[in-house]
Amino acid sequence: MSPDHRASRTLPQPLDAAAVDRAAHRRTEPHLVSRLRGEATTRTVLVHRGRLAVAHDGGLALLPPGDLSAVPAPDDGERPRWFFLGEATGEGAVSGRAPTSYLALVLPDDADAEDVDIEGVDPAGPLAVLVREHPWSGLRELSPRVDPSQAALATEAVALAAWHAAHERCPRCGEPTTLENAGWTRRCVAQGTELYPRTDPAVIMAVVRDEPEEMLLLGHAAHWPERRFSTLAGYVEPGESLENAVRREVLEEVGVDVDEVAYRGSQPWPFPASLMVGFVARARTTELRPDGVELTDARWFTRAELERDVRSGEVLLPGHGSIARALVEEWFGGALPGA
Ligand SMILES: [Zn+2]
Repeated sequence: MSPDHRASRTLPQPLDAAAVDRAAHRRTEPHLVSRLRGEATTRTVLVHRGRLAVAHDGGLALLPPGDLSAVPAPDDGERPRWFFLGEATGEGAVSGRAPTSYLALVLPDDADAEDVDIEGVDPAGPLAVLVREHPWSGLRELSPRVDPSQAALATEAVALAAWHAAHERCPRCGEPTTLENAGWTRRCVAQGTELYPRTDPAVIMAVVRDEPEEMLLLGHAAHWPERRFSTLAGYVEPGESLENAVRREVLEEVGVDVDEVAYRGSQPWPFPASLMVGFVARARTTELRPDGVELTDARWFTRAELERDVRSGEVLLPGHGSIARALVEEWFGGALPGA
């Protein structure tokens, strides 16, 4: 690969911003969430069914304490669930108030249920009201239109909410688990074992060649909309290095051998728990044999071909704000048109 790739900084990291400090050292403070939820400088992100409450201006809703005074306290169990997301001063803080503490409040899936017979749900109760009085948006739709701090908070909240939802029971013995450490661990009630939030690594790679000219490999996955082309990607298997995961996935999906693999950046992808780790990989062979299952098409593009096909709509690239797009545009050497 070109010397530029070795020398350049890693790609921007969409969905994670340094402006919000996770302040992990505070998670063990007794009653941290209960105390913070009453403080005027605290703002709370709402999550319901994996989606985020949206403010009137289209941004992420960051609720002041007064809007949540009727919601049951975090010490009263997990209905609803509260987490500590972190704190910020300056850029990541709510304007005019610094530092800001951030919490997430995860409303139960059935909080909006109309049926009064569902146990514990009052359709006129504070949780149902919260669901009904906000518009809701998925992280994919919300993140491109909010500032980096809001995108990072939203990503953290959605990722952590998904982990709790999937770990209400101990994976070893099946007994219930309870939330601890301001939402950052769970504990098995029977064995006392602590469970930690998990992240599943996946590799995503711009496969490039230099001969007979510089070209980029893009593929079309079976389940994508027509004409969508993007970088190859796949999950890292147990006991496998990231580099070998890149080599294996490229070989499996298109039959191409790659040798040199260079890290370019990463992106959290909490659907539900992935971390996309981005690479540039140099091809040693060029013949393309799409596997026909995961990938139904694969092509080599020169820069001129890619620009022409994107402009004409023949090729639809992944959205701005995705690491796939960043890998493609880094190779291309600038922005490409289209969403
Ligand atoms: Zn257990």
